[in-house]
Amino acid sequence: MKTNVKMKKKMGIVLMSAALMMPMAVSSVSADTVVQGTVISSTPAPAKTVAAAVPTPVTAALPNVKILATGGTIAGSSASNTDVTGYKAGALTIDTLINAVPEMKQLANVSGEQIANVGSPDIDNAVLLKLAKRINELLASDDVDGVVITHGTDTLEETAYFLNLVVKSDKPVVVVGAMRPATAISADGSFNLYNAVKIASSPKARGKGVMIELNDRIGSARYITKTNTTGTDTFKSVEQGYLGVVSGGNVFFYNESTRKHTTQTVFDVTNLTSLPQVDILYEYQNNGSYFYDAAIAAGAKGIVVAGSGNGSMSSVSSKGAAKAAAQGVIVARSTRTGSGVVTHSDSDDKAGMVTSDSLNPQKARILLMLALTQTNKPSEIQTYFDQY
Ligand code: ASP
Repeated sequence: MKTNVKMKKKMGIVLMSAALMMPMAVSSVSADTVVQGTVISSTPAPAKTVAAAVPTPVTAALPNVKILATGGTIAGSSASNTDVTGYKAGALTIDTLINAVPEMKQLANVSGEQIANVGSPDIDNAVLLKLAKRINELLASDDVDGVVITHGTDTLEETAYFLNLVVKSDKPVVVVGAMRPATAISADGSFNLYNAVKIASSPKARGKGVMIELNDRIGSARYITKTNTTGTDTFKSVEQGYLGVVSGGNVFFYNESTRKHTTQTVFDVTNLTSLPQVDILYEYQNNGSYFYDAAIAAGAKGIVVAGSGNGSMSSVSSKGAAKAAAQGVIVARSTRTGSGVVTHSDSDDKAGMVTSDSLNPQKARILLMLALTQTNKPSEIQTYFDQY
């Protein structure tokens, strides 16, 4: 009996606090109302209506972390808090994201900058160059200890791998996203962002290359990939494993990438205003060679083949590739399998082709673009694939 009263009292408290919260969660709020660490918005928010991040006094004892925002689901908004697919990506600004996680200010002096505000399928080479140059500028300053980039998850690994090859600093760089928009019940963005700032603030995270944080895992940009269309555990590093985890509010590292990154690479974006065009062609049964013709005609300097199995190509696409190679286009064999090394053979050298090691097609494209800023000799480009 006594217990029942206690339970009822407890339930009463629970129900009351739920009742107190509900009107806040469902009330008709203008764009970007921040409620208890969650961004609640009645409509996809127009960027310009957003209030600036609340200025916080800089604490000398804390590291300084800059958050560069590019859009994506982490900045996504929907009128419905159960909508996790039909929302608008890149709807909220960096100030809104920062204001939604005030706890970050206990980890670091956090400030934000909006680089772009798009879904990540719209991240292009121009955004990559802008982002990389800004990160290099920021990290060259003693006033910045680490950088976090908010990004859509669809092409997040491409941006992260690009940065892994061109950032010239040992300071931590963490790319973070979310699978549920900020307006959703149990949105994952706020905690992912908090964890990313935690990593970027940690001296232990120096020299690790560019990292990706989602779902408490820390992955190397070289190894991790998106594996699932909608699940929050979509980023996996199946073959090589994670660099570490964030657990119980602490950062733990267990592995290191053995591939060259950041300060160890030859790539330099300082004077680049564009990147060479590299296209990806998918291998499948009964394919034609006309996509090779189209890529060559459109000015491709490189073609990555998402080959079947161990980078296999049909005899028809091999003819297309030979035509491309004869015109000085570098063809790189990768694989559509999702994991494994594409092994290199003498026939690749004879055909003037390169192989992507264990890089998936989208990351092989990133490396090939950068390689082509240095050389168009297949043997030298192969060395990059072997080392990076
Ligand atoms: N379509 C979104 C994007 O990549 C998906 C996400 O962020 O998870 O921008």
